[in-house]
Amino acid sequence: MGITVALAGNPNSGKTTLFNKLTGAKQHVGNWPGVTIEKKTGTIHRTDAELVDMPGIYSLSPYTPEENITRNFLVGESPDVILNIVDASNIERNLYLTLQLLDLNIPTVVALNMMDTVDKNGDRIDVKALTDILGCKVVPISALKGTGLKELTKAIVDTGSSKVPSKPIRMNDRIESLIDASEKEIRGKVPEKNIRWFAIKLVENDEIISTELKDSRNELSDDINGLEAEYEDDAASIITDARYRIIEDIVSKCVRKGVKENAETLSDRVDKVITHRIFGLPMFIAVIGVLFMGIIGYGDYPGIGTYFTDMLNGWIEESLQPAVADWCADMDVSDELTSLLVSGVVGGVGAVIGFLPQMLILFLALCILEDIGYMARAAFMMDRVFRFFGLSGKSFIPLLVGMGCGVPGIMSSRTIESERDRRITAMTVTFVPCGAKLPVIAMIAGALFHNNGLIALFVYVVGIVSVLVSGIILKKFKGLSGRPAPFVMELPPYHIPSWINVIKGTLDRGLAFVKKAGTLILLASILIWFLASYNGAFQYVGDNGTTGSMLESFGRATCIIFQPLGWGDNWQFTVGSITGLMAKENLVSTLATLFSVDDEGEAIYTVLAAITTPAAGLSFLMFNMLCAPCFAAIGAMHRELGTWKATGAAVLYQCVFAYAVASIIYVIASLIYGETAVVSGWIIAILSIVAIVALIVRKEPYTKEETA
Ligand code: GDP
Repeated sequence: MGITVALAGNPNSGKTTLFNKLTGAKQHVGNWPGVTIEKKTGTIHRTDAELVDMPGIYSLSPYTPEENITRNFLVGESPDVILNIVDASNIERNLYLTLQLLDLNIPTVVALNMMDTVDKNGDRIDVKALTDILGCKVVPISALKGTGLKELTKAIVDTGSSKVPSKPIRMNDRIESLIDASEKEIRGKVPEKNIRWFAIKLVENDEIISTELKDSRNELSDDINGLEAEYEDDAASIITDARYRIIEDIVSKCVRKGVKENAETLSDRVDKVITHRIFGLPMFIAVIGVLFMGIIGYGDYPGIGTYFTDMLNGWIEESLQPAVADWCADMDVSDELTSLLVSGVVGGVGAVIGFLPQMLILFLALCILEDIGYMARAAFMMDRVFRFFGLSGKSFIPLLVGMGCGVPGIMSSRTIESERDRRITAMTVTFVPCGAKLPVIAMIAGALFHNNGLIALFVYVVGIVSVLVSGIILKKFKGLSGRPAPFVMELPPYHIPSWINVIKGTLDRGLAFVKKAGTLILLASILIWFLASYNGAFQYVGDNGTTGSMLESFGRATCIIFQPLGWGDNWQFTVGSITGLMAKENLVSTLATLFSVDDEGEAIYTVLAAITTPAAGLSFLMFNMLCAPCFAAIGAMHRELGTWKATGAAVLYQCVFAYAVASIIYVIASLIYGETAVVSGWIIAILSIVAIVALIVRKEPYTKEETA
């Protein structure tokens, strides 16, 4: 058995880059137990050492799931070596974690990353002096350029075999004597190896450790109170302060700032323009606009993504489906099985897989922007706006991606480090209309509003407002409470993207999507096909859904639910909403089939115009925009939220919220268009308004006041 090496460091210190360089393609990706935070492991090249990637953290405090995972792993599983990656161009902040790691008494190697940037800035770091002070091997590297990796690997292996534990750095005598007292108090109750770390945590009054070692804490309370009185501060702050003093001392001894100290770097100058207070945001919108037009298309010009997606869709519809049908005919396969294969399996999965080219190109573009360092700036600019609604600026990127397709939108919420922010984002991304919802918008606008483009604008505005309002509402629920994580991520200097990161990032996300399509979407497609093709007695009735299928019976039985929204009289709308779950654009073809019009274009417009009103149409549209997204997106949500229970709760929230919003829109639109809304509509709308307002103004029951 080889040794286990835990890779720990601050977010953005280059962990991913180093991990990829050290392990190459031999990686295993899973989740940490109990949470949906990704756990990556891999074997370090030319060794049998197993590298475990820890979540990026700034400290070993118990406030975030990321910090808890890291400390539980380091203390509980005691890896053979801690590989602490330090961003040398930001050494003051990064050493704060290093000092805490050294307290653990686990053999440690420090990888001093980003040395290329340090050199470029003309700074000097005295590695020998740093090695002496930290008491462990310190290896200067550049993960991006791949320098120093051989030396690093050797240091890891040597440290692993010599098993020399890390040497804690002592704070001042006054604090150390209290730590000694704390150690005496807890000896025997905690692993002897990590006793100093536990002792310090107890003095700091760490929430978890103090509860575990309550008696010891009580015994120590006089001593701690004494210290706090002396320093006129709380113990945790006193220790933080002591650590920063040590860091100051280290930096003064080991770091020589180059002549360029105050000179602006090129990045700084570029940033002045790009994150400009007034022009920053419009410029960003322009960049994204061009990107989307290039990929998705504009007017008559198909974007490159759309071009390939159309090609794939065309091939599925015109070649693959007929080929499967022909094959079935040759093989004398029954009508039922043919229909299952052609419409259910190939049609259902194909409808979703067809989006793959567009998604891959979008991912690629976004990965590049991210790796250049631009996305960090965009999130930074949006942070102030979003924070107001209980979301962090980092939620902005998923929302943006979600306009193309909800699946990558939800998946890109993975880049948000705080679990709470990530969950809320994953639950609300699909409120912004994705590309597949456009045909539905076009249908309603065409049939009932003379093709008025403002309807589309209205849908986007309601979608975005829904995200923001949900940010406020959801943070009042258990598990989602708390303030958005502070925007601590520093803006990394701009640089040329690392192609390994970009390509790996793109393929990982694409692959996750394909896997989803192969399993969940396949099952869901078969289920819907089954409901649409069989009647209650399980007799095959053909797959166009109009001949007494279970789906039709279900639609007829349940459409009454939508009476208050103004479109409960036509069961076809209910069935359309259900098939929309397979892919939202299905809604159009389903309605066309169910209203027995051959051509989806003008004919369906005429039918809709004849049987429904603008207010009801708008309410139908809004319900379908906001309610449960398609199965692919639900699958992606499950991946981010971790359990089916949480996913179910999220879908329920979306449906209830959609219902409430649709009822309000129905009543208001009725007033505007001079229609008479049904009474039940009024009742539901008023109740909805009261409920939404109440949830918005309600106090946050689960959010603790911040101490910091
Ligand atoms: P993580 O958040 O710790 O996983 O960090 P990443 O590996 O994603 O790196 C953050 C950013 O720093 C990326 O844009 C990397 O390309 C960049 N980066 C990583 N290592 C180096 C390095 O040695 N030198 C420079 N200049 N940039 C680096």
